[in-house]
Amino acid sequence: MRTQCCIAGAGPAGMMLGFLLARAGVDVVVLEKHADFFRDFRGDTIHPSTLDVIWELGLLEQFLKLPHNQERLLSAVIGDETIPIADFSHVRARCKFLMFMPQWDFLDFLALHARSYPGFHLMMNAEAQHLTFEGGRVTGLTAWTPTGMLHVQADLVVAADGRTSTCRRRAGLQAKDLGAPIDVLWFRLSRVESDPPQSFGRITGGQILVSINRKTYWQCGLVIVKGAFDGIRARGLEAFRNRIATTAPYLADRSREIASWEDVKLLTVTVNRLEQWYCDGLLCIGDAAHAMSPIGGVGINLAIQDAVAAANILADPLYDKKVTAQDLAGVQARRLFPTRVTQTAQVQIQKRVISRVLQGSGNIKTPFIMKLFQRFPVLGRVPAHLVGVGVRPEHIKTPRRGPQPLRGTMSLRS
Ligand SMILES: Cc1cc2nc3c(=O)[nH]c(=O)nc-3n(C[C@H](O)[C@H](O)[C@H](O)COP(=O)(O)OP(=O)(O)OC[C@H]3O[C@@H](n4cnc5c(N)ncnc54)[C@H](O)[C@@H]3O)c2cc1C
Repeated sequence: MRTQCCIAGAGPAGMMLGFLLARAGVDVVVLEKHADFFRDFRGDTIHPSTLDVIWELGLLEQFLKLPHNQERLLSAVIGDETIPIADFSHVRARCKFLMFMPQWDFLDFLALHARSYPGFHLMMNAEAQHLTFEGGRVTGLTAWTPTGMLHVQADLVVAADGRTSTCRRRAGLQAKDLGAPIDVLWFRLSRVESDPPQSFGRITGGQILVSINRKTYWQCGLVIVKGAFDGIRARGLEAFRNRIATTAPYLADRSREIASWEDVKLLTVTVNRLEQWYCDGLLCIGDAAHAMSPIGGVGINLAIQDAVAAANILADPLYDKKVTAQDLAGVQARRLFPTRVTQTAQVQIQKRVISRVLQGSGNIKTPFIMKLFQRFPVLGRVPAHLVGVGVRPEHIKTPRRGPQPLRGTMSLRS
């Protein structure tokens, strides 16, 4: 198979880049190793800046019709006090809220609309295995598919295959570990009418529990000290259920819904960044270039922003079949600063706030800065801007070229 751009990985980064390039008249093959997007919880925050991108694609109205939750205010509950920490109602973006939508619905939506461009080819069940090189330049890759080995030749290969990227490993690109003293245990508990209405983080007695309102259930994340999961399992399920009940008493009656350790998924938190995001013929974006801490739930947003920046810089050179290593360096130069700033903030919060809470056992005193947030709610606009819009938000500058999108009834699975 021959294409102008082969993207390994149909997560937020790969899918958005494939969409934008196909819309700009570039032939794109996106390979996804799974058969569908319906997998374990992988994060479902869609930020105002991502919603701006969807608006720029002309799809916001349709997107907002999909089932989702909107949060204008995120709060932290410290001991008995509820403190508003991020107020999205004034962010400089079209949608003044944080949206929660299962990632599979988001990816299905992007795939459905990207497929309407003739140059977009999404291959599910296709796992990138090896890169092919000619004279030191990456010229394509090989992938496992149910019908045998596929060989794709491409002017550019993009590694959007997540934080354990096969492609970046094959290219010999090295990630620098920035350290993460925490892991997260994800699980679901049903939601009842008398529960609090909003998503929030609860900090009490040396525990941090995040609860995301998914209408019929809570998607919960218990933050633990890195590597502590084995010890937690050894102490048994009953002790784990008690820990949930003590941290969030309103969930006590439902903690028994955790029937086995199968219901608890460990997210090993990693924060890292490639020194160099590219080599001749290959570019890494999204988690493949920089794994993010879950703090602020910004991983999806950064992946989307990388994709928009990459499309803005690369669509024309790809269309003209003249993409160079310098163009790829341009993508890194554009995205390194926002990535560095966000990761630095995450590492500081991990070290100075989260680790300290997890090391304590009694109720913590509300930190001074949080008291300021309580006293002056207007301060909540600052974190909302940093999380919801971020540093250097990207806007679509790629042209819409070639044939108009195919019309008619379509579904991803057809
Ligand atoms: C449990 C969990 C909770 C999270 N919570 C949040 C949150 O609330 N908010 C947030 O913003 N971020 C969250 N994140 C992080 C977020 O999911 C990632 O930062 C974001 O998805 C990165 O997008 P990506 O496209 O770069 O990579 P990914 O989303 O990892 O996508 C990579 C894709 O490549 C595919 N793939 C992998 N290897 C290959 C291969 N060899 N060939 C073909 N395909 C391949 C994978 O199947 C996957 O579909 C969470 C992550 C996890 C694991």
